[in-house]
Amino acid sequence: MDIKKRILVDMDGVLSNIYEQFKRYELEDTGTLIERSETLGKTEQEAFVNSLKYVIKKGFWRTIPVMPNAIDTLRILNKKYEVFIISSAMEFPNSLEEKYYWMEEHFPFITWKQLVLCGSKVMAKGDIMIDDHFKNLDYFDGRALLFSQPHNFGKENRGHERVEGWVEISKILL
Ligand SMILES: [Mg+2]
Repeated sequence: MDIKKRILVDMDGVLSNIYEQFKRYELEDTGTLIERSETLGKTEQEAFVNSLKYVIKKGFWRTIPVMPNAIDTLRILNKKYEVFIISSAMEFPNSLEEKYYWMEEHFPFITWKQLVLCGSKVMAKGDIMIDDHFKNLDYFDGRALLFSQPHNFGKENRGHERVEGWVEISKILL
Protein backbone atom coordinates (compact mmCIF):
# COMPACT_ATOMS: atom_id res chain seq x y z
CA MET A 1 0.00 0.00 0.00
CA ASP A 2 1.45 3.33 -0.89
CA ILE A 3 1.39 6.05 1.69
CA LYS A 4 -0.05 9.36 0.56
CA LYS A 5 2.01 12.47 1.01
CA ARG A 6 0.66 14.92 3.55
CA ILE A 7 -0.20 18.47 2.47
CA LEU A 8 -0.92 21.25 4.95
CA VAL A 9 -3.06 24.02 3.43
CA ASP A 10 -3.52 27.46 4.96
CA MET A 11 -6.88 29.25 4.88
CA ASP A 12 -6.46 33.06 4.99
CA GLY A 13 -4.80 34.34 1.85
CA VAL A 14 -4.68 30.83 0.34
CA LEU A 15 -8.16 29.24 0.37
CA SER A 16 -9.88 32.47 1.33
CA ASN A 17 -9.43 35.81 -0.38
CA ILE A 18 -9.00 37.90 2.75
CA TYR A 19 -7.79 40.98 0.84
CA GLU A 20 -11.11 41.14 -0.99
CA GLN A 21 -12.88 40.92 2.35
CA PHE A 22 -10.82 43.72 3.88
CA LYS A 23 -11.50 45.83 0.78
CA ARG A 24 -15.26 45.24 1.09
CA TYR A 25 -15.33 46.12 4.79
CA GLU A 26 -13.19 49.22 4.26
CA LEU A 27 -15.41 50.41 1.42
CA GLU A 28 -18.57 49.83 3.40
CA ASP A 29 -17.18 51.39 6.58
CA THR A 30 -15.27 54.41 5.27
CA GLY A 31 -16.23 54.71 1.60
CA THR A 32 -12.58 54.25 0.64
CA LEU A 33 -11.69 51.83 -2.15
CA ILE A 34 -8.20 50.48 -1.52
CA GLU A 35 -6.50 49.42 -4.75
CA ARG A 36 -4.30 46.36 -4.93
CA SER A 37 -1.35 48.55 -5.95
CA GLU A 38 -1.58 50.38 -2.61
CA THR A 39 -1.26 47.15 -0.64
CA LEU A 40 1.83 45.69 -2.32
CA GLY A 41 4.73 44.97 0.03
CA LYS A 42 2.85 46.21 3.09
CA THR A 43 1.69 44.08 6.00
CA GLU A 44 -2.05 43.47 6.08
CA GLN A 45 -2.39 45.87 9.00
CA GLU A 46 -0.43 48.57 7.17
CA ALA A 47 -2.55 48.11 4.05
CA PHE A 48 -5.84 48.03 5.96
CA VAL A 49 -5.45 50.23 9.02
CA ASN A 50 -8.94 49.34 10.28
CA SER A 51 -8.45 45.58 9.90
CA LEU A 52 -8.32 44.82 13.61
CA LYS A 53 -11.74 46.41 13.96
CA TYR A 54 -13.18 44.26 11.18
CA VAL A 55 -11.80 40.84 12.15
CA ILE A 56 -13.63 40.85 15.47
CA LYS A 57 -16.98 41.62 13.82
CA LYS A 58 -19.49 38.82 13.67
CA GLY A 59 -19.65 37.39 10.16
CA PHE A 60 -16.27 38.64 8.96
CA TRP A 61 -14.69 35.17 8.71
CA ARG A 62 -17.91 33.45 7.67
CA THR A 63 -18.35 35.56 4.52
CA ILE A 64 -14.83 35.77 3.03
CA PRO A 65 -14.81 35.08 -0.73
CA VAL A 66 -13.13 31.87 -1.87
CA MET A 67 -9.83 32.16 -3.75
CA PRO A 68 -10.27 31.50 -7.49
CA ASN A 69 -9.90 27.82 -8.52
CA ALA A 70 -9.30 26.70 -4.93
CA ILE A 71 -12.36 24.43 -4.70
CA ASP A 72 -11.75 22.35 -7.82
CA THR A 73 -8.02 22.00 -7.19
CA LEU A 74 -8.40 21.02 -3.54
CA ARG A 75 -11.07 18.48 -4.43
CA ILE A 76 -8.58 16.65 -6.66
CA LEU A 77 -5.64 17.09 -4.26
CA ASN A 78 -7.80 15.56 -1.54
CA LYS A 79 -7.95 12.29 -3.49
CA LYS A 80 -4.25 12.09 -4.23
CA TYR A 81 -2.81 13.41 -0.94
CA GLU A 82 -3.50 13.34 2.78
CA VAL A 83 -4.83 16.89 3.14
CA PHE A 84 -5.03 18.93 6.34
CA ILE A 85 -6.31 22.48 6.50
CA ILE A 86 -4.30 24.34 9.10
CA SER A 87 -5.30 27.83 10.14
CA SER A 88 -4.52 30.13 13.03
CA ALA A 89 -7.80 30.82 14.76
CA MET A 90 -6.92 31.53 18.36
CA GLU A 91 -5.75 35.13 17.97
CA PHE A 92 -9.38 35.95 17.16
CA PRO A 93 -11.42 33.21 18.87
CA ASN A 94 -14.62 34.31 17.12
CA SER A 95 -13.00 33.18 13.88
CA LEU A 96 -12.85 29.52 14.92
CA GLU A 97 -16.52 28.67 14.60
CA GLU A 98 -16.96 30.84 11.52
CA LYS A 99 -13.98 29.17 9.81
CA TYR A 100 -15.47 25.75 10.53
CA TYR A 101 -18.79 26.65 8.88
CA TRP A 102 -17.03 28.45 6.01
CA MET A 103 -15.09 25.25 5.24
CA GLU A 104 -18.26 23.17 5.49
CA GLU A 105 -20.05 25.45 3.01
CA HIS A 106 -17.32 25.79 0.39
CA PHE A 107 -15.27 22.61 0.84
CA PRO A 108 -17.80 19.97 1.96
CA PHE A 109 -15.48 17.18 0.80
CA ILE A 110 -13.03 18.14 3.59
CA THR A 111 -14.11 16.46 6.83
CA TRP A 112 -13.81 17.96 10.32
CA LYS A 113 -10.99 15.52 11.02
CA GLN A 114 -8.92 17.31 8.40
CA LEU A 115 -9.32 20.72 10.07
CA VAL A 116 -6.57 22.00 12.35
CA LEU A 117 -7.64 25.33 13.83
CA CYS A 118 -4.75 26.30 16.03
CA GLY A 119 -2.61 29.00 17.59
CA SER A 120 0.87 28.56 16.13
CA LYS A 121 1.81 26.26 13.23
CA VAL A 122 5.43 25.66 14.26
CA MET A 123 4.72 22.09 15.42
CA ALA A 124 3.01 21.10 12.16
CA LYS A 125 4.57 18.16 10.30
CA GLY A 126 3.97 17.18 6.72
CA ASP A 127 5.51 16.77 3.28
CA ILE A 128 4.19 19.96 1.68
CA MET A 129 2.91 23.22 3.17
CA ILE A 130 1.02 25.90 1.22
CA ASP A 131 0.98 29.22 3.06
CA ASP A 132 1.31 32.94 2.35
CA HIS A 133 3.37 33.81 5.44
CA PHE A 134 7.09 33.30 6.00
CA LYS A 135 6.43 32.99 9.76
CA ASN A 136 4.82 29.62 9.01
CA LEU A 137 6.91 28.36 6.08
CA ASP A 138 10.26 29.18 7.71
CA TYR A 139 9.63 26.61 10.46
CA PHE A 140 8.42 23.88 8.14
CA ASP A 141 10.86 21.11 7.28
CA GLY A 142 9.09 19.84 4.12
CA ARG A 143 8.47 21.38 0.72
CA ALA A 144 7.22 24.90 1.28
CA LEU A 145 5.03 26.67 -1.29
CA LEU A 146 4.79 30.43 -0.81
CA PHE A 147 1.37 31.58 -2.01
CA SER A 148 1.74 35.05 -3.53
CA GLN A 149 -0.24 37.72 -1.72
CA PRO A 150 0.22 41.49 -1.68
CA HIS A 151 2.05 41.43 1.69
CA ASN A 152 4.78 39.12 0.35
CA PHE A 153 5.02 40.94 -3.00
CA GLY A 154 8.58 41.84 -3.92
CA LYS A 155 10.01 39.91 -0.96
CA GLU A 156 12.72 37.31 -1.40
CA ASN A 157 11.41 33.76 -1.47
CA ARG A 158 13.81 32.62 1.31
CA GLY A 159 14.24 29.24 -0.34
CA HIS A 160 10.51 28.57 -0.65
CA GLU A 161 8.76 27.92 -3.99
CA ARG A 162 6.55 30.84 -4.92
CA VAL A 163 3.19 30.05 -6.53
CA GLU A 164 0.82 32.61 -8.03
CA GLY A 165 -2.44 30.78 -7.44
CA TRP A 166 -4.37 27.54 -7.50
CA VAL A 167 -3.98 26.89 -11.23
CA GLU A 168 -0.23 26.89 -10.76
CA ILE A 169 -0.53 24.64 -7.68
CA SER A 170 -2.56 22.13 -9.68
CA LYS A 171 0.14 22.06 -12.35
CA ILE A 172 2.87 21.47 -9.78
CA LEU A 173 1.15 18.92 -7.53
CA LEU A 174 -1.27 17.01 -9.78
MG1 LIG B 1 -2.51 32.79 5.51
